Order: sequence, then C-alpha cells, then structure tokens
Amino acid sequence: MTGALKTHAIVLLVNDFGESNKLVTFYTLENGKLKGVAKGAKRSQHRFVNALEPFTWIRLAFIPSRTGGLGRIDAAEVESSFPCIRSSAEAFCMASLCAEMVDKWTRDLDPHRDIFHLFLWYLRLLQETDSRKKATLFFKVKLLSLAGYAPNWAKCSVCNEAPVGRLVYITLKDGGFICENCGKEGRMANHVSVGAIKTLHHIQNRPLNTLERLNISDYILNEAWGLTQKLHSRHLHMVPLAYKVLSVLEDRRNQT
Ligand SMILES: [Zn+2]
Repeated sequence: MTGALKTHAIVLLVNDFGESNKLVTFYTLENGKLKGVAKGAKRSQHRFVNALEPFTWIRLAFIPSRTGGLGRIDAAEVESSFPCIRSSAEAFCMASLCAEMVDKWTRDLDPHRDIFHLFLWYLRLLQETDSRKKATLFFKVKLLSLAGYAPNWAKCSVCNEAPVGRLVYITLKDGGFICENCGKEGRMANHVSVGAIKTLHHIQNRPLNTLERLNISDYILNEAWGLTQKLHSRHLHMVPLAYKVLSVLEDRRNQT
C-alpha cells in the first residue's frame, strides 16, 4: 500500500497511545482492517471532532507508514455516529460486541467488502429497531459465514440428513449438529430445538435486505442467541465481557 489512502471506515477500537496520541483500529471498505495513530487526539478534541469513537462511520484519510510500522490518521470526518445506539446501554453493548468480533475475526489489510457492508447495515438497523437482539443475531450469523466459520445448519453431521423430530444436539467442536436419531446412540448434551437451527440456516442464506421481515419467537431467538454465543466464545477461546453485561441488562429488564 503506497500513498495516502481515502476510504470509508468504521471505528472498531480506540486506545490511548503515549501521552497525547490515540491508537485506532478501523475496518475500511478498501483495505480491510487498519491500525493507525491519531497524533494529538488525546489532548485536542478539535481535530477529529467525535470521529474517533467506537463504531462511528467515518471518511478516513490515512497515511501508511513507509517502513511497515503504524500509519498515521490524517483526517477523519463523521458520516454517522449512530446517536440512538449511544443513548442505550443495551444497544451500545451489542455494537461493542460486534466491533470486537470484527476486530478478532479479520486480519490487517485483508479487505472484505461484504464485512464492511454487513457492519454498516447492522449499525443502521440497530440505530432504528426495537428488536436489537434479533438484529444482533443476524449480524453474528452472517459474520460467522463471512469469516469462514459457518457451521452446517442444514444436515446432521453423522447421517447427512435434514433433521426430523424436535431436538438436535450441538457439536461445538465440529461446528454442526447431530440429529435426534443419531444422538440416541451416545450420551449427548447441548441440545436445542430443530426450529432454532432451521432459523439459523434461514438467516445464513437469506439476503440482508429481507432479514428484517423475518419473524422469530422469543424462545427460538434466545436459543439461537445462546448457541451463537457458545460458538463465538469457542472460536475466541473466551466469553466476551459484553455478553455478560448484556445478560445482566436483560435480567434487570425482566425483573421490572
Ligand atoms: Zn443424523
């Protein structure tokens, strides 16, 4: 990569860097994930006016390093800061979770336009919708696919048939499921309803612009959410903190 780069970008992470600088990680349309230093951003708010906040959509001017080190952020102009996401603890937490997934599951300078468009689509949806958990489930399932971790939700990994009956057993290690018939042979844990994996299969295969119309019952939504949380945590080798915070927020809401 040579010369100055101008591209659309979404901020993933912001960290202090030295006494006066910030180190910012972006997902860009043109170049995939990029990290760069915003000089003086910690001392002066004027230069980058609110542009360097997590999951802000910006137009970025970036000067790559000539020596292969960290590049420099020359300018950043806000396209949208998604204010409704920032005014809700739940939405903020969900968007932070999704930013963390994009950071963990993509490599530097490995562009994937579909991931950029998915993230932007999700942030716009989260900004407008009351069905935040459903919107975030869509994002998680689609990102699993784009990142190359999509399980086969269509067929049993033993008999290779579509599931019949009520339940399937999840095999997190192989990233798929075993149908009720095949699962009877051994002692299986981690079961979910057939409806949950059919819904996941549906989300995986439907275009983004038709997903909003998909009706999912609370029961199936919670099953599918729990299952994708387990898959994500397994791939990351940790349970992201945002999941724990979201669970506390949901418990509080259910008590009121
Ligand atoms: Zn089977």
